[in-house]
Amino acid sequence: MSDENLTFQPSRADKHRAAELRWRGAAPGMPPAMADEFMAAVKTGKTAHMLTSGKNEYGPPIVTPDRFKIHCKLHPEWAKEVRAISDKNGRSLKGARVRNLTHCKYGHPLSGDNRYRAPGRNERKCITCLKRRYEAPVPATADEIRRVTVALNEGKTIAEICWGKVDGRRVKKSILSFRKLKLHRELNPEYDRFVVSALADHNSKGQIRRYRKATIKKAAAAKTARKGWVHHKMSDEKATRVLSGLRDGLTLRRLPMAELHQAYPTRRRPGS
Ligand SMILES: [Zn+2]
Repeated sequence: MSDENLTFQPSRADKHRAAELRWRGAAPGMPPAMADEFMAAVKTGKTAHMLTSGKNEYGPPIVTPDRFKIHCKLHPEWAKEVRAISDKNGRSLKGARVRNLTHCKYGHPLSGDNRYRAPGRNERKCITCLKRRYEAPVPATADEIRRVTVALNEGKTIAEICWGKVDGRRVKKSILSFRKLKLHRELNPEYDRFVVSALADHNSKGQIRRYRKATIKKAAAAKTARKGWVHHKMSDEKATRVLSGLRDGLTLRRLPMAELHQAYPTRRRPGS
């Protein structure tokens, strides 16, 4: 390569020097011509962030974010107008790339019969690709199958293995997708038999879990109800009687507690 073909890019120091010289002795904020340029750019659909951030995708910035902020403080009316237009532009740009897609990345239309929209999700999916992925999944790895085996031996359900769900609620990450497991079971009949035997008594497991859940709920409700009770200190007289009874050789159990309770209740509902 000959010397005259070499071109020199400005160094980091050159850039800093140029930036410093550009603003040396300038008043705070932007000069009027620059402010007009900024307003015009915003009106063409840009946002304030695009014009100040200096990110590669937005091109060279008009002004630095700090100087823009100071200009906004000094000219509130101008700032209000810029903000309003910029925010509106930002809202219309949000999600625009996906919203404007007419076809999936394999070229199937994202409309009509080929469009799938899962309940509660604002997202279009390509039915052709969903089917293709379902029918030809990526095979499960040896590590995934080992983890599934461990999980099944521990009594985990298919919902927990493939969706991370326990009692219909997502509690952790899944190990592998259902379609992957399905493919592996189809290709390995022996493994399929293992899965079937491991899941054989899962119906009763679910019933036990739901029963326990109900019992725990009942206990918690009882505990909340008990909170309404107020504990009283044992009266001096009762304490003396209990102590003398113990000295006479009676156990706590043999003391006439029921009688004592009636005469000197230790717990009362508030207000009674
Ligand atoms: Zn597709």
